[in-house]
Amino acid sequence: MKIINLASGSDGNMTYLESEKVKILIDIGISCAEAVKRLALINVKPNDIDVILVTHEHNDHIKGVDAFSFKFDKPVFAHRTVWENLKFKLIKTPSKNRRFFETGSFQLRDISVNAVAVPHDVPCFGYSFENDGRKISILTDVGHTNERILDSIRGSQLVYLEANYDKTLLKEGTKYPLALKRRISGGSGHLSNDESVSLIRYLVQNGSRQIVLSHLSRENNSPDLAYSYISNKLLEFGIVEGVHVKIDVATNRPGTLFKL
Ligand SMILES: [Zn+2]
Ligand SMILES: [Zn+2]
Repeated sequence: MKIINLASGSDGNMTYLESEKVKILIDIGISCAEAVKRLALINVKPNDIDVILVTHEHNDHIKGVDAFSFKFDKPVFAHRTVWENLKFKLIKTPSKNRRFFETGSFQLRDISVNAVAVPHDVPCFGYSFENDGRKISILTDVGHTNERILDSIRGSQLVYLEANYDKTLLKEGTKYPLALKRRISGGSGHLSNDESVSLIRYLVQNGSRQIVLSHLSRENNSPDLAYSYISNKLLEFGIVEGVHVKIDVATNRPGTLFKL
């Protein structure tokens, strides 16, 4: 499999994944025109995309989905519970392209997909992709983790993992009203840098060797802060970045292309 994050964070999220037999976009939280431009950077034509897979209905994940699906006649896959509200937001996507799944696991040609429900303020799913003994997971917009989530990402060689906010910046910042601060840090909001550290420890113990910190808040985190804070915390637990695990940071620009 090959995977590259083409946009990450509060301003929009989109990841491109391909195997020998299928090309998938996970979320299009940027405009359709911008999505097309970013795909061109990696020599992928919009018509080559087989499936758009949606995590949840928030605009930073679906901004360009309707236009992309309509313009290029592409199917949109999401969990049945996600479609309950998505159907009012994706108005141009014809019914033949509104595809839903109900069980956690399904097949997209040669990729086995496992979707796990994650606590967020709307129905939301994390995804794992397996092909040829390799496993990649994408886990963002997660209020808190549980056994089912840990089970679903275990054994992934590569994980795009949310590190949304620094606790101190969120607490002391003056831009966000208290209610929003509570929503972000609450059980149905987002993962902090500290929560990301706990998950990385678990992942490394279970064989993960590459983490991409994802969905960073523009106001309450930064790539440098997330990387240094998380690397230093991991060191306290004897995990050395660059030795036991590699840590990359996804930003609002196209990131690293990984081949597994
Ligand atoms: Zn989001
Ligand atoms: Zn969200």
